[in-house]
Amino acid sequence: MSVEEKIIRFLTGELKLQNMINGEFVDPVDGQFEAVINPSNGEEIAKAPLSSAEDVNRAVKAATDAFEGPWRNTTPGERSNLLLKLADALLDAGDELTELETADAGKPRQAFIDEELETMADHLRFFASAARNLEGKAAMEYAEGHTSFIRREPVGPVAQITPWNYPLMMAIWKIGPALATGNTLVLKPAESTPVATLHTLARLCAEIFPPGVTNFIGGHGDPAGSALVTHPDIRMVSLTGSVGTGKWIAREAADTLKRVHLELGGKAPVIVFDDTDIPAATELIAAYGLFNAGQDCTAACRILAGAGIYDDFVSALADEAKGYVTGDLDDEATMLGPVNSEKQLAHVTGFLERRPEHTQVVTGGGQADRPGFYVEPTVVADMEQEDEMVQNEIFGPVMTVQRFTDEEEAIRWANGTKYGLASSVWTRDIGRAMRVTNALRFGAVWVNDHIIMAPEMPHGGYRESGYGKDMSMYSLEDYTEIKHVMINLE
Ligand code: NAD
Repeated sequence: MSVEEKIIRFLTGELKLQNMINGEFVDPVDGQFEAVINPSNGEEIAKAPLSSAEDVNRAVKAATDAFEGPWRNTTPGERSNLLLKLADALLDAGDELTELETADAGKPRQAFIDEELETMADHLRFFASAARNLEGKAAMEYAEGHTSFIRREPVGPVAQITPWNYPLMMAIWKIGPALATGNTLVLKPAESTPVATLHTLARLCAEIFPPGVTNFIGGHGDPAGSALVTHPDIRMVSLTGSVGTGKWIAREAADTLKRVHLELGGKAPVIVFDDTDIPAATELIAAYGLFNAGQDCTAACRILAGAGIYDDFVSALADEAKGYVTGDLDDEATMLGPVNSEKQLAHVTGFLERRPEHTQVVTGGGQADRPGFYVEPTVVADMEQEDEMVQNEIFGPVMTVQRFTDEEEAIRWANGTKYGLASSVWTRDIGRAMRVTNALRFGAVWVNDHIIMAPEMPHGGYRESGYGKDMSMYSLEDYTEIKHVMINLE
């Protein structure tokens, strides 16, 4: 069947996805499939394979055989060229990816084209160049009469598990550094958003990489994900997902002492001091709080505003949020899509229904009046530090605002949740910006901005947001073992 025919089947809800194991597209052994739903209208768009432990065994065997074969001894240059090919192939398949990913994940079409498509190709190109630039300590006689040097070697077959908010982008962040450093992989996308990964990314990888180097399987956390995590031949697990799943994986991985890389939830504080340019800041903060319908682990969702500008800030932020057009994903004017599933809709609106009496909904506040899983762009002010909306990840288009009195209180509240992924400080005072930046216990701090990323720079958490880094040379380090070789010169 041609790609065009498959897309037509997708648009009419008849596309049947398969696993890709050892370069072949295959049904799951139990023959079980499940409907995938378009969150913008609740309609079925595809059927996805429900993999069992046996499918996982086959995928891991393929990845293990490929790792023991010639792949791990390919040169960085060879691997780099294949990643560059994948970057080009991704752009060539841009229309197809846009069709699949926007309907599956509920993303406004234009936002996906502007913010994700080219970015993914660019990130792959970064990983391709990084493959050729790994560094280590200089070879030297650190012990008299002995020369020492460092080798960086791939970890082995790795399990990669992705979430539903940026299904393709997270897959790219995982396969890029793993392949650049000579690992093989089995990747499982989230059960609610498997389409672009299993249909297109898997096909491109099958065309470009040797059989078994990349393998893709559909299915739920249990049994597919857990079989992958506990498989004895998997040497590393990389998850982007929730804190609960991350903790479970860390515990399970302990049995075979697998390496673990965890990119988990976030609850980014956005500290706005009294000397901030309010109109400029609110425009950016609303954009970063509402992008991807707020389903972003770094979203500017937890705002702490100084007492001097609090009222003006809250009203300016609400005005910005009101301007966010919720609607049809194909309409260029649409800025806000649905949340990803009925379950996520209930999760987000549940917070709003339970909100304490001392809080004030300044705009929005519930499900939008249209089909699909849409939530209104929402600002809730007068929050207190121990409120569950401040402490827990809402992961929807909802921004909370708290009023702080001084720098010490702002820092204490900013650091006062279990998360530690991303944060931002807004001020014109450079000394204060530096003091607060140093005091924040987060993997990223932006000053007078938020969410902007560059593939050369790391992304990853402190505390319960996890450990290990995506992007940058640090991500390649996570995917390599360090071997010390010492030669007796006599
Ligand atoms: P989730 O933890 O429910 O699922 C993530 C993935 O883990 C899915 O593929 C799921 O099938 C799999 N999974 C679930 N249980 C498993 C198990 N027992 N064993 C193996 N795999 C299992 O998370 P989600 O709701 O899909 O994703 C949203 C979460 O991801 C949010 O908390 C968000 O903050 C986080 N996230 C973090 C980053 C980051 O870079 N830190 C980026 C994007 C999303």
